[in-house]
Amino acid sequence: MNSQTIKTELYTSLTNTLAHIFRTPQYIILFVTDVCWMRCQHCWFNEEWKARELTNSTLTFDEYEKLADSINQIKFLSLTGGEAFHRDDIVELATMFRHKTKLARYQIPTSGYKTERIVSATEDLLKANPDTPFRVDVSLDGVGEVHNEIRRISDGYERACTTIIELNKLKQHYSNFDVGVITTISHTNQDTVEEIGAVVEKIHPSGEWMINITRGNPRDPEATKVQLSAYKKAHEIIDRRIAEGSYQGHGGHQTAKWLSAKNAVRRQVISDIMEGKREGGGCAAGSIGGVIYSDGSVKVCEMLDKPLGNLRDFNYDLTALWNGEAARQVRRFIQETNCQCTQECFLSVSMLIQPDTWPDMIRERIRLG
Ligand code: SF4
Ligand code: SF4
Repeated sequence: MNSQTIKTELYTSLTNTLAHIFRTPQYIILFVTDVCWMRCQHCWFNEEWKARELTNSTLTFDEYEKLADSINQIKFLSLTGGEAFHRDDIVELATMFRHKTKLARYQIPTSGYKTERIVSATEDLLKANPDTPFRVDVSLDGVGEVHNEIRRISDGYERACTTIIELNKLKQHYSNFDVGVITTISHTNQDTVEEIGAVVEKIHPSGEWMINITRGNPRDPEATKVQLSAYKKAHEIIDRRIAEGSYQGHGGHQTAKWLSAKNAVRRQVISDIMEGKREGGGCAAGSIGGVIYSDGSVKVCEMLDKPLGNLRDFNYDLTALWNGEAARQVRRFIQETNCQCTQECFLSVSMLIQPDTWPDMIRERIRLG
């Protein structure tokens, strides 16, 4: 057996074992709607993708409830879309998952467009789930017109900034609450990273700034033409702030600083992937991490269009679907092909089973103080 074969067999065995032990993914990206307030240039979750991949109607609340009944525990639940805050019952939906499963943490990413609606639902969620760490991540893709051009909406920038400021005020009153800002680097904003960093530092001085890279097949194919130097620039800005002691990063729970440490290492891992310096393999999508779309289809990640099945065909039993033959085959496929991408969420879970990243994470955690 050569070293590659050994690695493939080890990771296939490890990911199958993890899926078997936990029964369901511990890091779940749950699409709760496919409706969005935006039409972003860089978005892979676009009309073409939805027409091709979403073959059923959106799950009803009762169907989400049956899904929750099949899950024992979730370490991290991302309620996404589209725009999760678009749902009138987002508070009830998230709270239902907290009641029915052992939910350790949850998060909602948002465009930040409808400030009042978002802040009000956030506060209701915090009141309904006082002991569960919760984070809202707001997208900020540029300053002024750059953001609006990317998001294809005329007043998106002011509204997103207001939402970030208002959510940070809320953070003062709830120790289990955290606010993040996410910037997706694309062709349109890559020359303005310093300006974005300055605004983030001003309106979001004590929280995490997450940097994503445009991925998949976005509405505007040009959006993926990103210079690595732009990504590195953002990394340097955060790194400088950490060195100066002016960067606090994630909060809201006792292990929050580890998330910031992981993000720091993840930025380096992404740079290495983009430069072709890092081997593939060892992805934990399909074992620790998984995606459930609003039509009930389940996939290992957002990038690999290999459906494992639809919850409606499994009587909403995620355990059965996650431990079925299709899932085992995809887990093997991922390791045999040395699958690799820069999808930030799945890199986060994969780093948990990639020991070479652990010393750097410990070093970054110490640096954060
Ligand atoms: S990137 Fe997010 S906010 Fe923008 S269109 Fe896609 S789902 Fe909507
Ligand atoms: S490497 Fe990327 S595309 Fe491949 S399985 Fe993992 S998350 Fe999906």
